[in-house]
Amino acid sequence: MKYDAVIIGGGPAGLNAAQLLGRARRNVLLCDTGKPRNAASHAMHGFLSRDGFDPSELRRIGRSELEKYGIDIRDHGAVRISGSLDRFTVILDSGEKVEARRLLLAFGMKDQLPEIEGLRELWGRGVFPCPYCDGWEVKDEPLAALGNGAKALTFAFLMFKWSRNLILCTNGSSEIDAQGQGALRAYGIEIKETPLKKIEAADGAVHLVFIDGTVLKKRALFFHSPGIPSSDLAHQLGCKMSEGGAVAVNAMCQTSIPGVYATGDLAHPDGLPFPPASVIVAAGQGAIAGRAIDRELLLADFEASQRTA
Ligand SMILES: Cc1cc2nc3c(=O)[nH]c(=O)nc-3n(C[C@H](O)[C@H](O)[C@H](O)COP(=O)(O)OP(=O)(O)OC[C@H]3O[C@@H](n4cnc5c(N)ncnc54)[C@H](O)[C@@H]3O)c2cc1C
Repeated sequence: MKYDAVIIGGGPAGLNAAQLLGRARRNVLLCDTGKPRNAASHAMHGFLSRDGFDPSELRRIGRSELEKYGIDIRDHGAVRISGSLDRFTVILDSGEKVEARRLLLAFGMKDQLPEIEGLRELWGRGVFPCPYCDGWEVKDEPLAALGNGAKALTFAFLMFKWSRNLILCTNGSSEIDAQGQGALRAYGIEIKETPLKKIEAADGAVHLVFIDGTVLKKRALFFHSPGIPSSDLAHQLGCKMSEGGAVAVNAMCQTSIPGVYATGDLAHPDGLPFPPASVIVAAGQGAIAGRAIDRELLLADFEASQRTA
């Protein structure tokens, strides 16, 4: 059977697109490797009516809702794509080949974490990527931001809104220019250049252990990672990428390749300064992609019927 659409990735973006397309009576297959970006997090924020909700529970419910719409689900990854508009072939890591008229890339981004002992283990539990997601819970507490250069400067000023008790760890010589350093001083944000040796958790705090033996106890450490695509499938297809490394899409989630859509964290919509990494936005973009795919198929079928009439 040729599917109307194959959705690659079953996070909030792929799941919402699948629900919308299923309700629009489309034949859809969704494949998913089950490793979402926020896998380490137990409480999700910034989602209307789901504040503090376990994100794995959101995915479980989202999946179960697909049953009644007849969506085919495979717990396998897509490893290869070939073909073009109306004739795509997707090969799964099980060896199964599926055919589709349209493709939706919803496989998200993976974070690139610095190689500091303990950081990966504390990701999402003491070390956080985003103050909008996890800043409120530690507001006004002693916090640290990790990063260097111009982006870290902006990030430190962002973090300052959540706590004025803030230190910026550059993990090596500061690459922040003199003007930036002056601005940080004016805000009372200290810069610590000593490289970090490791990060440990104890007594509800993170202990930042530096190579000179000093230890700073902070309530949380924030590190912003823009991430890279979780799979090379968009590159395989030749999709145009944005400067930040996401898949460039228009407002309807269309990529530069006809018939291929991208959504969620993976997609960078034209006109936005950066891809908005958030569960509710990913789900909303999934709905936009679903509508766009359904509309394109409808128009294609109508045009075909006119040619044969
Ligand atoms: C620690 C942490 C905490 C966060 N907290 C919040 C928060 O509180 N609130 C908030 O709004 N956002 C939060 N986020 C951001 C949030 O995780 C993302 O915005 C959201 O998960 C994006 O959804 P998505 O569907 O685009 O991608 P994902 O949720 O990452 O889902 C992508 C899916 O695609 C699958 N996949 C990958 N490759 C393939 C392949 N080749 N074939 C098939 N499937 C594949 C993956 O396994 C995964 O299941 C947090 C992120 C992190 C890292």
